[in-house]
Amino acid sequence: MRITSIRAWGVELPLREGRYSWSNDNFVDLFDSTVVAVDTDVGLTGWGEVCPLGPAYLPAYANGARAGIREIGPALIGLDPRELGRLNAVMDQTLKGHPYVKSPLDMACWDLLGKSAGLPVATLLGGRHGEDFALYRAISQEAPEAMAARVGAYRAEGYRKFQLKVGGEVEADIARIKACPKVLEPGDILVADANTGWTMHEAARVCDAVREVDVYIEQPCASYDACLTIRRRTPRPFVLDEVMDSLDMVVRGLADGAMDAINLKIGKVGGLTRARQIRDFCVSTGLAMTIEDSWGGDIVTAAIAHLAHSTPEEFRLSATDFNSYVTRSIAPDAPRRIAGRLAAGSAPGLGVSPDVDLLGEPVIRL
Ligand code: MG
Repeated sequence: MRITSIRAWGVELPLREGRYSWSNDNFVDLFDSTVVAVDTDVGLTGWGEVCPLGPAYLPAYANGARAGIREIGPALIGLDPRELGRLNAVMDQTLKGHPYVKSPLDMACWDLLGKSAGLPVATLLGGRHGEDFALYRAISQEAPEAMAARVGAYRAEGYRKFQLKVGGEVEADIARIKACPKVLEPGDILVADANTGWTMHEAARVCDAVREVDVYIEQPCASYDACLTIRRRTPRPFVLDEVMDSLDMVVRGLADGAMDAINLKIGKVGGLTRARQIRDFCVSTGLAMTIEDSWGGDIVTAAIAHLAHSTPEEFRLSATDFNSYVTRSIAPDAPRRIAGRLAAGSAPGLGVSPDVDLLGEPVIRL
C-alpha cells in the first residue's frame, strides 16, 4: 500500500456554550480544526484531525498545522502508511519539532493500518479494557457559583469527573474550587486546572487554601521547575499537562516525583504513535493519565476513544469527548457519549467516515 495523495480542510467548530475560557483571560469562540485525508493506491483513505486550543495555549496554531502539512506532506507520498515507525522517522527528518503538525498525518495512517488489517485501532493499541470508559467535563472559567452550577448540570447528564478552569485571580480561584464539592457526590473527581496561569506565590496560596478539599491540582505554573516547587509544598494529588510534551519529560517528571498523573494529549506529543509510547511507559511505571487532545471534533474524539479504551482502567484518570462540546459534526458514525461515558467504535481503523460534502473544497491537495 502506498500513499498517493494528501488532502486537508479547515473546519470551523462553534461551541455549544458559545465560549471556552481558561487562565490569563484566554478564550476561544470558534475552533479552527484541520481535517486530513491520506489517500492510497488501494482505494483506502485514512482520516486524521488536529485542533489547537487557539494560538495562545500550546506552541501550536491552526494555520501552522496547515503550513506544516504542506511542508511534510510531499515527503510522505509513496510511503507505506502502515509502516508507522518509518513514517514518523521521515516526518521528523523533514521537519524538526512541530509535533502537532505530525499528529493528524500519523492518526490518518493508524486509520489506514486498521482498515487494511480489518481491525479497530483500539485492538492494534492493545485491546479494550472494559465496555466503555468515564469522561471528564471541562468547566469553562466563570464566576464560582456559575461554575458550580455547570458542574451540577453536567453531573445530571452523567459525568462524574470535572475539570475546573482556574489560573485566574487567587481569591476567585479559591472560591471556584470551594464552590464545587457541594454539588458533587462521593466517588466524583474534581480537578483544578490552572493551565500555567499562576505564579509560584499565587499557586502556593491557592494550594494552601484548598488543602482540605478533595481536588487534584493540574499544571499550576508555566515552567516545570516552578510546578515541581509547588508540588513539593502541597499534599494534593498533582497532574502535569503543558510541560509533559514528550517521553523525555515524562521520564524526568517520574524521576523527580513531580506528578501523580499526566495529561496526555495526542497532538501535543505528535500523534498516536508517540502517545501510545508514552501511554505504555506510564502504565509500566504506575502513572495514571487523562487521555485527550488539545481540542477537536469527531475524528479527534474517535482517536481519543481508541487510545483511552485500550488503556487499563486503573490508569485512566479520565478522557474527553470533544465532539460533544461543539455544534458541528462531520462524521455521523463518530463515537458519542452515553451518560458521561464513551466507547471506541468496532469498525476497522478509527471507525469514522467524514462526509466530504460537508467539508467543502480542500485547502491543501498534495
Ligand atoms: Mg490541562
